[in-house]
Amino acid sequence: MKIASLFSEKTVFSFEIFPPKKTAPIDTIYSTLEALQDLKPDFISVTFGAGGSGNGENTLAIARRLKERYGITPMAHLPCIHYTRTQIDTILAQFQENGIENVLALRGDRVEGMTPAEDFPHAADLVAYIHSRGEFDIAAACYPECHPEAPNLDTDIRYLKEKVDAGASHLITQLFFDNDIFYDFRYRAARAGIRVPIEAGIMPVTNRKQIERMVTMCGASLPRKFTKMVQRFENNPAALQDAGIAYAIDQIVDLVTDGVDGIHLYTMNNPYVARKISEAVGGILQAAPKC
Ligand code: FAD
Repeated sequence: MKIASLFSEKTVFSFEIFPPKKTAPIDTIYSTLEALQDLKPDFISVTFGAGGSGNGENTLAIARRLKERYGITPMAHLPCIHYTRTQIDTILAQFQENGIENVLALRGDRVEGMTPAEDFPHAADLVAYIHSRGEFDIAAACYPECHPEAPNLDTDIRYLKEKVDAGASHLITQLFFDNDIFYDFRYRAARAGIRVPIEAGIMPVTNRKQIERMVTMCGASLPRKFTKMVQRFENNPAALQDAGIAYAIDQIVDLVTDGVDGIHLYTMNNPYVARKISEAVGGILQAAPKC
């Protein structure tokens, strides 16, 4: 099923998972899939390491298993910066042979020691290329707090519009902890002529290390309510996990009440957390009228 068609029917609820590290056997993810499958998300996206080599095979294997064994629509991520057109053709052919119809087209981050391949310098180039083939539904990434390499948010949104014009049918945001930042971004995107659905990326924070990594990597702003919570419970992992789950639920309730197009939950491969949140917000997601 092509994901774009869902947004006119409902508030979409999706998960993101990642393949095990290259050194770990792929089977380590299968218990996670088993534990997530009865939550019945609208789709599950599977990340893909920008450096390639092996990780992409796992992305494909996991996406295929989601579809074949659990009947869950998969979305395969595809970062292009280190791939040539021929390599991208091979990967897309594999996706197609395995019935994967949805791709999150990404530039990917530069990998230290690797020279970019030059065929697809920006995600918009990959979106346009995949769109020209006509086989896939294409999503793209967006950044409510501005992509770290962009000079400012307006410029970043101008480039985002290029991805939409090139054929991205919906967008998924980088994680954020302050819903007002998302609302401001959504307003600016609409003002720039972006009319496709925007799913809000929500990451439940469950340990201190994870917060530090996330802030370094993507520069997400931390509202006072959030930092107070972390400081209060940082030495009590169980309490911090409970508080992080409650914080994510609170964000989602507010977003759904406001008429968000969809929620994309960064599960961090943690089925316990995904279950707690899904159970808490399932009713409101179903009750939310489509705006
Ligand atoms: P782009 O849209 O190409 O943007 C990258 C930068 O280039 C931005 O600063 C933009 O403003 C600028 N830009 C765009 N077009 C132009 C232009 N024509 N001229 C000049 N500048 C331009 N990474 C992975 O490796 N694997 C994954 O599985 C993965 N999954 C992700 C999922 C989500 C939902 C998100 C939000 C990110 C994910 N990433 C993943 C990270 C992503 O690859 C990085 O954030 C990367 O740095 C940017 O990718 P992009 O597709 O947004 O790039």
